[in-house]
Amino acid sequence: MSITNDRIVVVGAGVSGLAIARELAPDHDVIVLDKGGVAADTSSRASGMISLSLEPFPDEWASFALSQFRALDGQGIFSFTERETVRLVPETNTDLYTDQAPDGGEFLTRPELERRYPDSFGDLSAYGGGLVYDGTGYLDALDYTMTLKWAAERAGAEIFRDHEVLDIRVEDGMVIGVETEYGPIDADHVVYATGWKTRDLLADYVDVPVRPLRWNAIVIEPNDPLPADCPMGSEPTMQIYWRLTAHGNVLVGGNEHLLTDPEGTPMDVQTSFRERVIEDVAPLLDGVARGRIRREDCCPTADCASPDGLPIIDTPEEGPDGLTMVTGLHGRGIMLSPVTGHAVRSLVTGEEPPFPMAQFRLDRFDDRSADFEYRSHWGPGEGNPVP
Ligand SMILES: Cc1cc2nc3c(=O)[nH]c(=O)nc-3n(C[C@H](O)[C@H](O)[C@H](O)COP(=O)(O)OP(=O)(O)OC[C@H]3O[C@@H](n4cnc5c(N)ncnc54)[C@H](O)[C@@H]3O)c2cc1C
Repeated sequence: MSITNDRIVVVGAGVSGLAIARELAPDHDVIVLDKGGVAADTSSRASGMISLSLEPFPDEWASFALSQFRALDGQGIFSFTERETVRLVPETNTDLYTDQAPDGGEFLTRPELERRYPDSFGDLSAYGGGLVYDGTGYLDALDYTMTLKWAAERAGAEIFRDHEVLDIRVEDGMVIGVETEYGPIDADHVVYATGWKTRDLLADYVDVPVRPLRWNAIVIEPNDPLPADCPMGSEPTMQIYWRLTAHGNVLVGGNEHLLTDPEGTPMDVQTSFRERVIEDVAPLLDGVARGRIRREDCCPTADCASPDGLPIIDTPEEGPDGLTMVTGLHGRGIMLSPVTGHAVRSLVTGEEPPFPMAQFRLDRFDDRSADFEYRSHWGPGEGNPVP
């Protein structure tokens, strides 16, 4: 690896910006600027579900990201817990899976599920069984992003909070730096990793079809502890997922929806979501039905949706040379962050990445407006039937 003097300014110190900084810092002069704190908003609120094998992603994205989580496990304050995931299958859909489970999953009938995970499930009477996936797991999103920050700084990156970037500076069609609230900073390359704000921030240079996206999450302390090896789970009719936390509580997430005015929207967990979790989700898990709610979370600044549900990671032709963007992580920004970081590295350096990049390109969208409908990862589709 030869070290260059090229300076890269990364705008945004969420999980994407920090993953990018970690990838580029060993051989570049990297500065990360965030208008608020480090991973203080969306990234630290994530549920930390790493369910790449269930997602409609190329296998190479999943294997690259998983190998990176495994390699980072134990460094800084990061730990990656590998756990199987059970996607419950409503009784009415059981016939779909008895011969073949989709996407590398294994179909288990209800009695088989209960034998495989004794003491994990509660009342599964509405389900014919479940699809079991391996290659999944979870992490604490704040510990993970702080470890990325630590690794980036160890490699030489400088990270500044409370530094709002007001604009890029362009000369003769090339990026020459950024304008911040404290004045200009020179750069050879600028990477915007600014979530849903990217559309507004780059509006003078390129149209980016993204919209703010909101999620809800609730943490419940069970009345009886669940076994430590309790699998992660999801339920397709309610479109809800759950996992154990490091303290033995149960984190339940879901209720994703687009927002038109994220900054003017109260960020409380919606009452309907709380009621659904208490009435319908908690009884599915052993010892949780009479549990106590410990925390309710809603992302204060919202995540970012794209029209096809896949990220936009590109150095677009219509923008000035040297401008790269990462946005539209669509609720998958934590699990994709190793891919994001490495993809940006390959755009900046010209190195060949070990995974396909075509799905990241901005020019896959003819329509660049932000009027699109939300595209849920839940389907309907063969893998995620929503009856
Ligand atoms: C409740 C919830 C649960 C989730 N669960 C999961 C999960 O289980 N698994 C998963 O993979 N993903 C999950 N996600 C999604 C994940 O959190 C996001 O996809 C990811 O955090 C996006 O990271 P980011 O760095 O791209 O954007 P952000 O975290 O939004 O970071 C953007 C940063 O840019 C900064 N910024 C904006 N404008 C400027 C400016 N002008 N100047 C300087 N800085 C600026 C902001 O301050 C911010 O820090 C969840 C999200 C939520 C809310």
